[in-house]
Amino acid sequence: MILQLKRLFERAGDQKDIGSEIPLEELGEFVGCGSFVTPISLSGKVQNIAGMVSLDYSAEVTVRRRCDRCLDEFDREYRFGFSHILSRDESSLNDESVFCPGGALNMNELVISDLLVELPTKAVCRDDCKGLCPKCGKNLNNGSCGCDLPAAVGRSETEF
Ligand SMILES: [Zn+2]
Ligand SMILES: [Zn+2]
Repeated sequence: MILQLKRLFERAGDQKDIGSEIPLEELGEFVGCGSFVTPISLSGKVQNIAGMVSLDYSAEVTVRRRCDRCLDEFDREYRFGFSHILSRDESSLNDESVFCPGGALNMNELVISDLLVELPTKAVCRDDCKGLCPKCGKNLNNGSCGCDLPAAVGRSETEF
């Protein structure tokens, strides 16, 4: 999705709502973070306040991830908010502003790089995930495997 903001850049006081989604087929695999299950739905606005153009939006998406403890796949919904200053002038860019060549903003690129920053690199299917048995590899969420294991966590907790 490319947002054409040429007119907005030229007219102080102008604003434009963003209410759309980036379809699944335009989304690739998230390296190391899983894959998208739903389109990314976006809402927010771009506005020109006294010549300064800013973008505020929130992105909502469900990502299929692999649990770091039990290795099962699970779907999790994420919602994050982002704000950026937009600039179509390459010479006035800084670390915080997003370059819009000719007043055009590549929304897909921006949203995906924003999400990559926010998505936690570690994901656990649920807070009390029991993980895998270190001996036999069984998923302990599905019941105990009968291996003789020291209850390391429980013991260190009772010592305090
Ligand atoms: Zn798990
Ligand atoms: Zn076991």
